[in-house]
Amino acid sequence: MKNIFNNININNINNLYGLYLKSEQNRLVKRRDASLSAVIVFPNYYGVAMSNLGFLRAYELINQSGFISCDRAFLQDDASKGIISLETGKRLSTYDLIFFSLSYENDFYNILQVLAAEQIPFLSADRDKIFPLIMAGGVIAFLNPEPVARIFDMLFVGEAEAIFPDFFKNIETYNDSTIKKNKGEIIENCGKIKGIYVPAAYQFIFDAKKVNELKEIKSLPGFPEKIKRRWADKDSIFSSSVITTKFSELSNINMIEIERGCKRGCRFCSAGYIYLPLRESKPDDVLKTIESLNENEKAGFVGLGTMDSKNIRKIMEFSLNSKKPFSLSSIRFDCLDENNLNLIKETGLKTITLGIETGSLRLKRLINKDIKNEEIITVLKNIIEKGIINIKSYFMVGLPCEEKQDLDETISLIKTMQKEFVSSSKINKRIGSLTVSFSPFVPKAWTPLQWENFEDLTILRHKMDYISNSLKALPNLNIKINQVKSAYIEAFFARGSRLSLDILINSYKNKINLKKAAAGSGFNINDFIRKFDTHELLPWEIIDQGVTKKYLLKEYKNSALFKTTPQCFEGCKRCGVC
Ligand code: SF4
Repeated sequence: MKNIFNNININNINNLYGLYLKSEQNRLVKRRDASLSAVIVFPNYYGVAMSNLGFLRAYELINQSGFISCDRAFLQDDASKGIISLETGKRLSTYDLIFFSLSYENDFYNILQVLAAEQIPFLSADRDKIFPLIMAGGVIAFLNPEPVARIFDMLFVGEAEAIFPDFFKNIETYNDSTIKKNKGEIIENCGKIKGIYVPAAYQFIFDAKKVNELKEIKSLPGFPEKIKRRWADKDSIFSSSVITTKFSELSNINMIEIERGCKRGCRFCSAGYIYLPLRESKPDDVLKTIESLNENEKAGFVGLGTMDSKNIRKIMEFSLNSKKPFSLSSIRFDCLDENNLNLIKETGLKTITLGIETGSLRLKRLINKDIKNEEIITVLKNIIEKGIINIKSYFMVGLPCEEKQDLDETISLIKTMQKEFVSSSKINKRIGSLTVSFSPFVPKAWTPLQWENFEDLTILRHKMDYISNSLKALPNLNIKINQVKSAYIEAFFARGSRLSLDILINSYKNKINLKKAAAGSGFNINDFIRKFDTHELLPWEIIDQGVTKKYLLKEYKNSALFKTTPQCFEGCKRCGVC
């Protein structure tokens, strides 16, 4: 994790933030007469945060409360004088409210870094009334917040549009001189609101004989047994970047939410499960935002499967007719028909990114993403022949039941892709690039593969070497092997428990890696990345996610039988969400 401006000679945080602010195209009007001050922290650098739509949406909603003025703060290389907000340069600890926006498990370490720089005690239980209320939301808060839960006074479990209004109602009568004094009462009252999780009100009892195995979760009287995840009203599904900047990782792209959720049911995909059911933004909201873009901005259509949206063609045509360039995230192979490819071609897009995951027939069925290799080759040929000359594709390694034969099928698919890529490129009289990226499979909470283990590191490295050695002689093929170590850390936290926080703090304080920190705390890191028994009580089951355990189990069994499940359909009630 490096500050993307390390190449710019700005070593003073105030100068750096001045440069950022100057670059921003800001659509947000803030109240300066607000009764409460807040800061929303993204525990990574500015460039990463500003390309995160969830972070920008929460920042917008808090400022729309009418009585809170919210600034932004980020991880800083230079934190010698503490962590300051971007807009006002105020220290974090001087705010009334601190909101953390959590999107990635690998940012957990950065949360400690931010708090330590401000001399704020890590645990909610250790903070008295002089400290601000510290809360967190974002996808981690409703996926599996347990490894960091005890840091926060409360967590927002679900979509901010749904929970914030109730939360705001509970704090609107306080001001900057009363809120900290009444912290205990506020936390207690908020813990009774649907979708707000007060970790201190729950006791996680672990089995004395089995390491990292939960026996029971007990709630304090008056608090719900489980925290019900909340959904935004169907009509309020829409967000776009309230601020754009050339310094974001997506440089001046205004992210426009086309849809939330996904109907495909890929069994490895946590976002696909926790954002169920698929809900589409109203086309009018999308078109108005496209129209409002200025000449420096480009539209970036965001969703888990943008091409699945029934409005996407209308949206793309509108953008083209209004001469507003756009890009698309997450495109499935089976959505790239002739018409869609023609529209994409007209935008002048030169790169398409596709998630293929595996070339193995049986593993495709196991993950419920059964797109035939022949179809992949045909679509690849069509893409290139349309003049879209670069293709990036993603694959996973370390999937359950994976054998050498499965890797060979993936290698064989890539060899055919490369051959077709080279021959189809002749028509364009220039050759672009074909990139294949490999990442380890990380089992995630709330997916049918949540019980599976993370592959042994040595085996994983062997598999990656085998793939890379089998492909490296092929011309015009870029091979990217993504960091096995960072996937290992992600896997440790993704299905972690309250015990993970002790290990994280030990690692931070003693500047040792997680493996050593786990050993120092009397654990083996493998206890956290192991296969879970389907009868076990899982740490994230403190949340009622909507998708039933029964359905996840059924899907888990289907995966073991290599049996696919059809996508969501009208009238379906099978998973418990609709
Ligand atoms: S109930 Fe059926 S349609 Fe609704 S989200 Fe679940 S699988 Fe999809």
